[in-house]
Amino acid sequence: MIYFNGVKKQYPKSTMALEDITLSINSGEFVSIVGHSGAGKTTLIKLILAEEAPTEGTVFFESLDVNRLKNRQLTELRRRIGTVFQDFKLLGNKTAYENISFAMEASGKSDEEIAADVPHVLDLVGLLDKREHFPGQLSGGEKQRLAIARAIINQPEVIIADEPTGNLDPINTHEIVQILKKINDLGTTIILTTHNRSVIDSIGKRVITLEKGKVIRDDKDGKYMM
Ligand code: ADP
Repeated sequence: MIYFNGVKKQYPKSTMALEDITLSINSGEFVSIVGHSGAGKTTLIKLILAEEAPTEGTVFFESLDVNRLKNRQLTELRRRIGTVFQDFKLLGNKTAYENISFAMEASGKSDEEIAADVPHVLDLVGLLDKREHFPGQLSGGEKQRLAIARAIINQPEVIIADEPTGNLDPINTHEIVQILKKINDLGTTIILTTHNRSVIDSIGKRVITLEKGKVIRDDKDGKYMM
């Protein structure tokens, strides 16, 4: 589904962020990407989203070279990929319900679809009773659950979660991992970056370890080994 073919990335006036990355991620996988700060995790994700272009090599999403897409195709690609970040990126002036309905409106969904789907995902992440709360009235874990609900609302094929538990305590971290596992069980591919050993160990799926821009390990039933 996602294929890196001989990808290098060098930012201007910087060291090599990624060196000769060749890897594929199949539909339905749950892949964790680990590595120290500066190892290249975020760069890898930016290349999938075509937010950065490779210096060499090609990143494919299915048969699409993501770096050759025109504006409209790029918007379509990004709709197929839901994103979740450490800092949530919620809209502070909108309620939990509105944060999600807004994402549906932006992708052209009808009022009927919105009314049917938003309560369903709020329920999936355990926030139905907080639907009228603003992000400022939610805990860190609740904010991240809301961000996940927003990421899945348009039924993307992939969820990319970049350090989603970075700001959370162990209990909330565990909840977020359980929700991501549930979403993966329902068929969505998950790509997760994390520093957190217990997160990796509790997922028990594929782990790709990056070090200084290179893949130094790719384990099918990975444990965190740094
Ligand atoms: P990670 O997410 O694993 O912490 P990054 O992908 O953010 O790693 O960074 C990989 C390398 O690329 C680091 O050496 C970092 O300093 C460098 N880098 C990242 N973004 C930029 C940028 N916009 N300009 C220059 N160098 C960058």
